[in-house]
Amino acid sequence: MSWSGWGDPARARELPEQVRTLLHDLLGVRAPATPAASLESVRLPPVALSGPMVEALAGVAGAEHVLTTHEARVRHTRGKSTPDLLRMRAGDGSDAPDAVVLPGSHEEVAALLRLCSAERIAVVPFGGGTSVVGGLAAARAGFAGVVALDLARLDRLRSVDTESMVAEFEPGVRASEAERLLAARGLTLGHFPQSFEYATLGGFAAARSSGQASAGYGRFDDMVMGLTVATPAGTLDLGRAPRSAAGPDLRQLVLGSEGAFGVITSLRLRVRRAPAERRYQGWRFPSFAAGSAAVRALAQEGPLPAVLRLSDETETMIGPARPDAIGAGGSGCLLIAGYEGATVADRQGAGAAVLARLGGEPLGADPGVAWERGRFSAPYLRDSLLAAGATVETLETAGFWANLPRLYDAVRLALLGALGSPLVMCHISHVYETGASLYFTVVTPQDADPLAQWQRAKTAVNTAIVEAGGTITHHHGVGRDHRDAYAAELGPVGVSVLEAVKSRLDPAGVLNPGVLVPPAGGC
Ligand SMILES: Cc1cc2nc3c(=O)[nH]c(=O)nc-3n(C[C@H](O)[C@H](O)[C@H](O)COP(=O)(O)OP(=O)(O)OC[C@H]3O[C@@H](n4cnc5c(N)ncnc54)[C@H](O)[C@@H]3O)c2cc1C
Repeated sequence: MSWSGWGDPARARELPEQVRTLLHDLLGVRAPATPAASLESVRLPPVALSGPMVEALAGVAGAEHVLTTHEARVRHTRGKSTPDLLRMRAGDGSDAPDAVVLPGSHEEVAALLRLCSAERIAVVPFGGGTSVVGGLAAARAGFAGVVALDLARLDRLRSVDTESMVAEFEPGVRASEAERLLAARGLTLGHFPQSFEYATLGGFAAARSSGQASAGYGRFDDMVMGLTVATPAGTLDLGRAPRSAAGPDLRQLVLGSEGAFGVITSLRLRVRRAPAERRYQGWRFPSFAAGSAAVRALAQEGPLPAVLRLSDETETMIGPARPDAIGAGGSGCLLIAGYEGATVADRQGAGAAVLARLGGEPLGADPGVAWERGRFSAPYLRDSLLAAGATVETLETAGFWANLPRLYDAVRLALLGALGSPLVMCHISHVYETGASLYFTVVTPQDADPLAQWQRAKTAVNTAIVEAGGTITHHHGVGRDHRDAYAAELGPVGVSVLEAVKSRLDPAGVLNPGVLVPPAGGC
């Protein structure tokens, strides 16, 4: 993984000429004056942990699994949001951990949490490092040091129960590897977020991720049947049946807890038979409103495809899902409907009848195939855009169908108000009977201080989402970036419940301080 960008550096891509022209002519983007920092030149705080503390950590995980090198610390600094990348490109490593520790078992994780609680060392659970909400930047004030607890060594598929269709994984397994392991048994999880190549199963549960095929396979939290969690107060082992009436479901307390309550060391996940057939098709609608009505009809009446994605007019025109064909998307609103599994032809036919009745024009298989081919490429394009002087960032929310147009307008207006004339694109790609998520991509020319420029826009959007009645996040999570808006969403009693859980499971407050739970005394 690139330390200051996305993915495999060998796959970094030059911006196509038409994109450069578009950026220059449409947005007035100019190349930044300062080149990006090198890994060696990133400025890190001195290691705060004392020698005896590092030795104590090594006593639990083994000396070879405690790293304090410059490179290891840089590679565990923050996640992959655009502000994270801007800071890294500027050589700012101020959020770096003092040490990276790689435990090899649940018992080692539990022992490390006890040690860190006793020594007041902050612990940041680190999965794939793809957080886009500041979920990996712990507050260090008041702690003896900060440790990144990298779960990469907990990378096994432990068992597969094909009668119950449940597989048990360790948390550090990446989504791409999980699919490879399951495919060898004719199975799939069906979780394909855009961070598929690098994000881990533990990270998905901790941040309530949702993949591109969520309409067919559900969100990640729908897939979690059981969890083992190491906390400073002891171990939680949750989930004895698919559903239970035995009081509140504490699995839901762990899902979305973003490393603030404990470290997930094992996951029992629902799996499905790998689909025998996949058919993805493109449709064009005259407007986002018409397309939304068609998406809602499929969500409420069926047949619901596995993949259902509707781009608004701007996203359709620009076409970011197809980096090879940027600017060649055409008019109207593009919808991708992908049916998978058995009886695909029948369900696709019935779905096509609904889409045609509601004003859709069939475009055949090509747009669907092109979308599927390019679905993991866009993050590579973000790096090239940043280097070219454009800030690109994504943000998302969700709401009930009746409120979705208001939410859409509120976010767009907030972005236009804060940034002048940015390019704002949106799509719907996670749908429910009662509502959907809105996913925005913003492109704007960088000013002299792109970080402050984006923070102003982000604050405006967070406020707009809260005021328009949406949730602050549908699948990226809370981290630090959404913490205040999350607190507003929960209200004071809700926040006090979070605090009570945190202080019961993590009395010393060492787990991911500053993430998810507002600091004591309010925010
Ligand atoms: C290019 C890109 C595309 C993305 N696309 C999507 C998308 O399509 N859908 C989506 O839902 N998200 C997406 N994301 C966001 C991100 O991939 C998800 O939030 C994902 O769930 C994070 O997984 P991770 O393994 O990288 O976790 P990390 O980033 O390492 O951690 C995320 C949070 O969970 C905590 N954590 C990690 N592992 C554990 C554990 N085992 N126990 C307890 N806490 C833990 C961390 O401390 C942190 O607070 C995208 C991100 C990027 C950069």
